[in-house]
Amino acid sequence: MHYTSTRDNSIVATASQAIAQGISKEGGLFVPTALPTLSAADFTVLQGLKYNERATYVLSRFLTDFTAAEVEECTTAAYGTQFDTASVAPLNAIDAEHNVLELWHGPTCAFKDMALQILPHLMRVSTQKSLPGEEVVILVATSGDTGKAALEGFKDAAGTRILVFYPVDGVSEMQRLQMITQEGNNVGVCAIRGNFDDAQTGVKTLFTDAAMQKQLKDGGMHFSSANSINWGRLVPQIVYYISAYCDMLAQGKVAMGEPINVVVPTGNFGNILAAYYAREMGTPIAKLICASNRNRVLTDFFESGVYDTARPFYTTTSPSMDILVSSNLERLLYHLADEDSDAVADMMRSLREDKKYTVPSVVKARMDALFAAGCADDEQVAATIKTVFDKTGYLLDTHTAVAFYVYDAYRAETGDTTPTVIASTANPYKFTPSILEALGVEKDEKPYEQVAQLHDKTGCAVPTPLAALRTKVVRFTDVCDGDAESMRETVCRMLHLD
Ligand SMILES: *Cc1c(COP(=O)(O)O)cnc(C)c1O
Repeated sequence: MHYTSTRDNSIVATASQAIAQGISKEGGLFVPTALPTLSAADFTVLQGLKYNERATYVLSRFLTDFTAAEVEECTTAAYGTQFDTASVAPLNAIDAEHNVLELWHGPTCAFKDMALQILPHLMRVSTQKSLPGEEVVILVATSGDTGKAALEGFKDAAGTRILVFYPVDGVSEMQRLQMITQEGNNVGVCAIRGNFDDAQTGVKTLFTDAAMQKQLKDGGMHFSSANSINWGRLVPQIVYYISAYCDMLAQGKVAMGEPINVVVPTGNFGNILAAYYAREMGTPIAKLICASNRNRVLTDFFESGVYDTARPFYTTTSPSMDILVSSNLERLLYHLADEDSDAVADMMRSLREDKKYTVPSVVKARMDALFAAGCADDEQVAATIKTVFDKTGYLLDTHTAVAFYVYDAYRAETGDTTPTVIASTANPYKFTPSILEALGVEKDEKPYEQVAQLHDKTGCAVPTPLAALRTKVVRFTDVCDGDAESMRETVCRMLHLD
């Protein structure tokens, strides 16, 4: 099995090259040239397996230059007792219509752990194969959850260093505390004056900056990415949609082969793209429902076929979805445009130069067949959190609440009653102040008091890693400007390059 680039499909890479490199040299994203398929017989086998075994089964189909033992070593290390439930990604039927796929049982309490607990292992094996002897510098732009999950995954991993940039006013207090208290001898964290898109643009610029790359090379290092532009981030996410279908079967929600819908609260388009790949592999998924917050660039895109980022950027109560440039959409476009990398390169050029692009009508028609889309503003999110809690006793985080709202609206509007899985992307305690507001609780000023208040109000258990933050030492207080040059200086300083 091979990988190529969305912007130049003459490129051929192995899985380990795609993962070690992160992004293709001309700026495109690595995509598989063909997908492995799953039959009913595969699903029967998968149903009888534990989560880490399901991951081995699926990942070995993609990582064809890994040995079976290497894949198994990675999945065993990643999906063990660092998750607070043996099922790793449990499917929780909170009422007849809402099956919640809880993806936040890992060490940082957000779905990013599902990929970032395994990525360092995939990266180690990949680097040994394709760039032996070099130190990998993981450069991350985060809207809050990726940064912490990547730091936690890569801390003290041999042969790696990790540097994280986050928007100074763009993350929740809990997310900030998680990052600035990060332990480990190979980690660095810096805030930027700007938003997530600035951080992501800066990081992408550094990745493709020839002078920066030479400096690194001379120091025996190379960059790679832990953002979902890295194939190694996406491929583990495919597993939990396949796993969720197995659990829908086990819970009697569907018979073998009967379709489900999947709803995903979306930012960078990585999570929902993984659901698309699961579907293309043969998982019976009818509609992929893309849920956005007030930054509804994707909702408008699915409606009109025009991706237009020339619009105001809003900070919302679901900060991990405050994104205007959804990087992984590029992969979807490549597949839906009959793998025409020139067409994709043109659209991406147009995005850079004109801040927008329009998809060809054949692509739009394919999007319409596969996807539905909707959005929720902060008020609708707050009302959803309150209603669902009052009705069922289940506490949604703000991101999952976006998905809930959009799903209920979709179901009411279309009458589509296909059994549906809603991806739940974070534990509510990560966004405590917004949840308290939604529930109408007068907030204390101190973050840890707020956590206690939410616990008193709901009785929901506080995750151990969040409770433990209280006694951690603050290690990282740097702030730099959000342009590539300032970020370059910060990287050089942190890596001791001049
Ligand atoms: C990252 C994140 C999202 C968005 O996921 P994408 O893969 O970027 O679309 C949604 N919710 C939470 C809690 C996240 O951390």
